Amino acid sequence: MGTIDGLPPLREVIRVHDLVAKRQLGQNFLLDLNLTAKIARSAGDLSGCDVLEVGPGPGGLTRGLLAEGARRVLAVEKDTRCLPALEEIAASYPGRLQVIPGDALEVDVLAHLTPPIKVVANLPYNVGTELLVRWLTPGVWPPFWQSLTLMFQKEVAERIVAKPRGDHYGRLALLAQWRCDAKIVMTLPPEAFTPAPKVHSAVVQLTALPAPRFPCDFRVLQRVTAMAFNQRRKMLRSSLKAMAPEIQGLLESVGIPPTARAEEIGLEQFCALARAVQAA
Ligand code: SAM
Repeated sequence: MGTIDGLPPLREVIRVHDLVAKRQLGQNFLLDLNLTAKIARSAGDLSGCDVLEVGPGPGGLTRGLLAEGARRVLAVEKDTRCLPALEEIAASYPGRLQVIPGDALEVDVLAHLTPPIKVVANLPYNVGTELLVRWLTPGVWPPFWQSLTLMFQKEVAERIVAKPRGDHYGRLALLAQWRCDAKIVMTLPPEAFTPAPKVHSAVVQLTALPAPRFPCDFRVLQRVTAMAFNQRRKMLRSSLKAMAPEIQGLLESVGIPPTARAEEIGLEQFCALARAVQAA
């Protein structure tokens, strides 16, 4: 049976290039090209966009992105064993795939991208959260990207989209939802990957808002939420005591009961508290 792009099936690519998965590189490959095309489609219309992909591996998602019409894909891959397979894809899509060998935590990708830019990736689990936090905390907002469509372990995905009082609610949810719309668009069982990981996975779609949902100084918000969630089951009047001596009054002034706990407080109230702390 033919593939979506006339290139060899991914199992054959892996066999020919001897790409035995390395656990320390977080290598759990997607081999079903219909599935990778579906993930690419969940990022919306790619036709006028440059796409940044971190960790293309043997190129399953890369092929999905190109087949779904991405204007250009810039792929950063740490494992040099994957480069010959990626070169074959580049040859099939002249001028549309650029591969940068290296560590995504170190490579400066901006020099190689032209807006509008979307990020789509099946992230290696060991650097996934760190990359997300970097993309969510650029020096200026709006960021260089319009949207992030990212595969994570399901538990991490749930932390990104969590709401107050849920088990997964915490700093990552607040950070993501302050300046983005965030939703889970797909969940995948372990068997979707080769080799199969121990846990389920999920694709999260984050769309950058033009400005923060509620105004406040980012550094103050970070300090307040770090302190509040470090002792998430304590009452805020105690967990935030070191923030300001008059914390009880500040909490009351923005309508937060001083006896409330961090996990009960929504984004709007945390932003109001950050403004009150700063003003004090
Ligand atoms: N995109 C492929 C797919 O969906 O089948 C592979 C995804 S696999 C979960 C993660 C990929 O990220 C691997 O190819 C791995 O070599 C690569 N990788 C791991 N750490 C990396 C890093 N720091 N920078 C760039 N790529 C990395």
